[in-house]
Amino acid sequence: MNQNSNQIGCAAFQAQLPELIGSGENLAAHPHLQVCELCRALLKDLETIAEAARQLFPIVEPPDELWEQIESAIRNESGSQQAD
Ligand SMILES: [Zn+2]
Repeated sequence: MNQNSNQIGCAAFQAQLPELIGSGENLAAHPHLQVCELCRALLKDLETIAEAARQLFPIVEPPDELWEQIESAIRNESGSQQAD
């Protein structure tokens, strides 16, 4: 075995991953990723998923106009029921 005691294992690295991503650190520079192809592939998958999620669920605040349109649409709806 050629184990380096300075090197953390995959499980330890992956346990730190959410924290590392959250900290905005440059993950590509992480020593574990320099030696571990498995975790490099995992991170790439995560980035692909995160990017896809951003495109599928963009964070958009509904503008006030939208609520006004909904309100007037409801009013028109109930008004048209009385019109005969
Ligand atoms: Zn690893």
